[in-house]
Amino acid sequence: MIWSVLFSTAVLIQCRSSKDIAAKESRQASIPTQKDHQHSDKILHPKNIILMIGDGMGIPQMTAGMYMNHNYLPLERCPVIGLHKSYSANDLITDSAAGATAFSIGRKTNNTYLGVDSIKTSYETILEYSNRIGRATGMVVTSTIVHATPAAFMSHQSGREDYEAIALDYMDIPANLLIGGGKKYFERRNSDSLDLVAQLRKNGYEVRDYFEQDYMNYTLPDVNKLVYFTADGDPLPASKGRSYLPKAAADACNFLKNKSEKGFFMMIEGSQIDWGGHANDASYVYTEVIDFNKAIEKVLDFAAADGQTLVIITGDHETGGLAINPGSKMGELVTAFTTNKHSADLIPVYAFGPGSASFSGIYENTAIYTKMMQLLK
Ligand SMILES: [Zn+2]
Repeated sequence: MIWSVLFSTAVLIQCRSSKDIAAKESRQASIPTQKDHQHSDKILHPKNIILMIGDGMGIPQMTAGMYMNHNYLPLERCPVIGLHKSYSANDLITDSAAGATAFSIGRKTNNTYLGVDSIKTSYETILEYSNRIGRATGMVVTSTIVHATPAAFMSHQSGREDYEAIALDYMDIPANLLIGGGKKYFERRNSDSLDLVAQLRKNGYEVRDYFEQDYMNYTLPDVNKLVYFTADGDPLPASKGRSYLPKAAADACNFLKNKSEKGFFMMIEGSQIDWGGHANDASYVYTEVIDFNKAIEKVLDFAAADGQTLVIITGDHETGGLAINPGSKMGELVTAFTTNKHSADLIPVYAFGPGSASFSGIYENTAIYTKMMQLLK
């Protein structure tokens, strides 16, 4: 009796996984892939670079997202995979500020530092550089736009939680497009009475927000500079109704495409994978991984059609020490966490498009900056 139950369970699992595998094969046959010439070393200088960061997204988060999404994630379309060493200047376990600063200025710095090295010297970020050489730039995130990861690309501070000071750094921002939460740090400030929304408008930005216009029904206007606030503070988790990231990622590609004939640099962050890890909430983790991958799908579709866009997808660090334990099945995982903080895991890097070949191998997180800069020059 027991054996027959076990046997039928095993058959059931097998049927489910072979169905998932067959579905995956037919899906792969129809998905636009990187063209062969894009993979070769002949085209070393992509016109556009899109860096996609899953905050707290290590191998376990991707695995959980994949097995909870019918054995498939769009990031599997990337033909090149590498691994980066995520540690910061003062800790084997990085935080998001030092992690993103490694990508934005190519230097290991101390945890909590943004856009500065470990002795607080400021360096031009890759986004600021891109702007200076005439490329269009933008960021799309599911946290506030002043949170550590985006702030590392546009701000120079040693305190990642000085949100109002970071917002002030954005006043001479070199970005054409910003989409994310955090309007209150611009509009109703505690440290001063400045109205930074009014200041943004004065600096030539069109400023819109979730309150006056639902993003899902919003068509980005044909303006040169745009800020759209998706929330007053932190945006909602995807599981509680946030849905803007995939549309915003696609919109941003098209918005930035025509802004400069030299191309664009954009950073897109799936910010809340990390928050699920800190909460030791596996369902929060994989719903955010799946939502981020919907954005990856849109961006890879854009890059495949465009043929001149390099897409790099990585995480800054792993969060939670997530494990997928025995007893797990496809679509039904038994998970455990070893910490509610970050871990020191190596982090995968996926690349797609012209210049992608240089992202294979094992390297420091700072090398992601160096490789992107070589391709931008
Ligand atoms: Zn974190």
